[in-house]
Amino acid sequence: MIKQMVDWYDVERQTTQHQQAHWAVLAELGEQLAQAASLPELAARVLATGCQLVNASDGYLLLVDVEMGELAVVAQQGKRPLTTTTLAHQSYQTSEAAIDNQHSGECALVVPLQTLGQTVGTIHVTRATWFTADDLDLLTAVANMSAGTIQQLRVHEALAQLQQARSAYVSTVTHEMRLPLTAVKGYVDLMSNELVGPLTRQQREFVVVIQRNVRRMSNLLRDLSQINRLESGQLRLEKRPFALPDLVENVAAQFAEKLNGRCQTLTLHLPGDLPTVYADPERVTQILASLLSNAHKYTPSGGHITLTVASTPVAVEVVITDTGIGIAEADYPHLFSQFFRAPSDLVREQSGWGLGLYLVKKLVEIQGGTISCQSLPSQGSTFTFTLPLANR
Ligand code: ADP
Repeated sequence: MIKQMVDWYDVERQTTQHQQAHWAVLAELGEQLAQAASLPELAARVLATGCQLVNASDGYLLLVDVEMGELAVVAQQGKRPLTTTTLAHQSYQTSEAAIDNQHSGECALVVPLQTLGQTVGTIHVTRATWFTADDLDLLTAVANMSAGTIQQLRVHEALAQLQQARSAYVSTVTHEMRLPLTAVKGYVDLMSNELVGPLTRQQREFVVVIQRNVRRMSNLLRDLSQINRLESGQLRLEKRPFALPDLVENVAAQFAEKLNGRCQTLTLHLPGDLPTVYADPERVTQILASLLSNAHKYTPSGGHITLTVASTPVAVEVVITDTGIGIAEADYPHLFSQFFRAPSDLVREQSGWGLGLYLVKKLVEIQGGTISCQSLPSQGSTFTFTLPLANR
């Protein structure tokens, strides 16, 4: 009687030790799932854990290839290639585990990888001896723990591939379109300068229209290509400390002719004691030029534009105010979106693609600043952006 009790005690103690060892392995897998960086690496770890827990000699993690709709091996443990996927298909199609203990020498156990009610693949393990209900529970635990993360990584990697393909596509198209456009611009400029003979009044008008449209097209290609570089992380910033007032004065000077053409005034408020900012001067020039160009375009003749630079305890603030057509409150949420142009005749009169503010916001934000807008229709708009201080 006492001998029997000791045996039971031993069995129970061993079972508890086994369970604790299993929990430790599963807990380790939990940590690996949280740190998973790539799908092949994660799949290999999940499979290794599954094989370890059920003492399998060989194992395969299969995922459904979205395009082909077929199961494909993405991780393998052991040397033998998977000879048949029949059992894996059965498990995948029924979304239930499948066991084959019939073949002496190689028994197989397959469990489905399920997440959000969808079966995304299977874990397939083999060994020489029978698989038990405990093995099934352990492999199912591994599959249930990891299916969500595997699917997340798959979606993530698929999106990254799509983004890469889109970026390559945009880059090729913009490059290929720029070449013929440069040729058109060159020839039209020759004609415009009458280097290939005098132009009639009507020919001159046509040439001006062609030049305007070439400019419009090349602006679009320039913006698309920069957005592409920004979104694919290829845009390099050359940040350094510099004084903003000099740069503002340079940009403002470039607008003098355009502003005179519409009898608009531009007033600059540049205090002498401004702290140095830390940003990319070329990008800041682009931001200022874009906001000043908008203020000029969307302000009727005779209007006023004011550019004020001020310092706050944490940043330098640039405020550009105009007395133009203003922006309706309903348009605020779309203002910084790609291709947004306010649905108004006054806006359509001006050329543009609705990409300027989208780019400006991105350029401000990647330099650590913020941008906002306040406006009253028919009274004017104010755009405020910040740049980080050099000494912070
Ligand atoms: P674009 O000027 O090429 O249309 P932007 O992205 O620079 O593109 O601006 C988007 C839209 O925001 C403009 O089409 C216009 O409707 C509105 N907008 C921008 N700046 C001003 C401004 N200073 N005054 C009034 N509306 C503006």
